[in-house]
Amino acid sequence: MAIPRDTIEIIRERSRIEEIVQRYVPSLKKRGANYIGLCPFHKEKTPSFTVSPEKQIFYCFGCQTGGNVFSFISKIEHLSFPESVRFLGKITGIEVREEESRDRDKGLAYLKRINVYAMNLYRRVLLSEVGRQALEYAHRRGVSDAAIEEFSLGFAPPDGAYLAGRLLAEKVSIEEAVKLGLVAPSTRGKAGSFYDRFRNRLMFPIFDHRGDVAAFGGRIIGEGEPKYLNSPESDLFKKGSILYAFHLAKESIAELKRAIIVEGYLDVIGFFQNGVRNVVAPLGTSLTSQHVEVLSRYCTEIVLLFDADSAGIKASLRSLDVAAEKNVEVRVARLPEGDPFDYVKKYGIRRLMAVVDSAVSPVEYRIQRVMADSGSLPKGRLLLALFRIVDDIRFDSEKRAQLKKIGALVGIEENVIINDYERYRAGAKSPTNFGALSKKTGEEINYLARCHRELVILLLSHPELVESAMLDFSAEGMTDPMAKTVFSKIAELYSEGRQISIDRIFDEFPEGDIRQFLEKGLEKSFVAERPAEAYSEIFINVKLYLIDRKMEKILEEVNRQGDRVSSEMLIEIEGLRRDKEKLLSYLQTR
Ligand SMILES: [Zn+2]
Repeated sequence: MAIPRDTIEIIRERSRIEEIVQRYVPSLKKRGANYIGLCPFHKEKTPSFTVSPEKQIFYCFGCQTGGNVFSFISKIEHLSFPESVRFLGKITGIEVREEESRDRDKGLAYLKRINVYAMNLYRRVLLSEVGRQALEYAHRRGVSDAAIEEFSLGFAPPDGAYLAGRLLAEKVSIEEAVKLGLVAPSTRGKAGSFYDRFRNRLMFPIFDHRGDVAAFGGRIIGEGEPKYLNSPESDLFKKGSILYAFHLAKESIAELKRAIIVEGYLDVIGFFQNGVRNVVAPLGTSLTSQHVEVLSRYCTEIVLLFDADSAGIKASLRSLDVAAEKNVEVRVARLPEGDPFDYVKKYGIRRLMAVVDSAVSPVEYRIQRVMADSGSLPKGRLLLALFRIVDDIRFDSEKRAQLKKIGALVGIEENVIINDYERYRAGAKSPTNFGALSKKTGEEINYLARCHRELVILLLSHPELVESAMLDFSAEGMTDPMAKTVFSKIAELYSEGRQISIDRIFDEFPEGDIRQFLEKGLEKSFVAERPAEAYSEIFINVKLYLIDRKMEKILEEVNRQGDRVSSEMLIEIEGLRRDKEKLLSYLQTR
């Protein structure tokens, strides 16, 4: 993206958020300083969707979605940030001219043309005499002609330099084709000759989200290694962000608000052939955080459907931590046998969908797996494995709920298992004093993180406080990466003399955890009263906390040194005590 900052600013100025939102939310009505209407992002009967014309932001108290005018368009039209800037440019009649990207675009367009050329060639070969065996293979596996057409399947012939020869004859830049991983320089043949990387393979073109051919996957016909060969990463192909068939599936995903993730190309095709189209596959074994990010713009539920003997389970489950930050629920299911493609052939789509619908939360899934594999494991060992899963649960209420369920599974009463878990937390992890110490550090991070997060949100909603904050706080003093990053950004804008507001800061973080954090923080812009008091409360709380920690440390030292304690130390404690009293009395007199 290379839209000049000035253009973005002009479009921002011209796009009144209340007017833009009105186009999508006819119920939007002025109430006091704000506008209120029915949320377009979740179903509701009483309006909780709020727009502030003064701050140029929106926030829904029902589903906690919020943002500025660009993110509103991005959410409702499913567009990226630059796309939504262009979209609003059109509405407001401001021309968006891109910088510097011309040459790069030209280069990319050329690469795309090479991929399209290869795809069309492979397609023709599959339907020709040369491809007869491959076509028979596809039919025998159960791939329909309609699917071959829709997924643009092709065949790369066994001939060592079929594509390379064609590219040379057509005077296509062979260097660029090498970059795409279609051909490679020959090491054995004469210098300057090239061979095809894909040979004797059924070819699955991989399209990016716009529907351009980004890469290929090829399955060997008959015996040979590797069974599947993918294009290497290139300027067109970033594995971690592309999902197979997403360009075909996204409409259905948006409509059903659910995406089904399977492991292979054929599995996707199996679903499509049976009329289920909200299905995609990652191009490695696991789902990445970028995948989750993209999907969360289209749906509220992601179901991971693993093969019975899946290798990708562990990696995918790890990537789910990301999902917890997004507004998307992830569920996991595992087939009792084989893979989805064979399963649907054998049992039909209804039974396959029943497996999909039986998906459970990742935690429950992990508990199920441990229980299934437990066999004759002694109860203590089994509990230890289960407690480790409970450790990963973020909220105490859910921890409790899962402990209760585990108790029921292994036949232990609720209080007993909760007590066991507490003992495990205290003991198993901290055989020495080290455990107790690290627990305290954890608490400290949590408490300070909360204060600092509150602080940055407060500053964004009330920029008049930024000046004091620059004196009272520093980014270095912040342990929480989220608060630290946002605070540094505020400091940067402040030092450049630029205007600070929550709707501007939004564009600095177009996606990711920080974006989510800012969205949640928008609520404060609407409800926080008396910002100056809120500010001094945060300031004092942080100060008090740091004083307490310091005092504790000194007292520990005093206890250790016994009689040899120095008078400086006692003076320091006295000083801290006085500071603390002053702060406390300030809090009370307010
Ligand atoms: Zn809502």
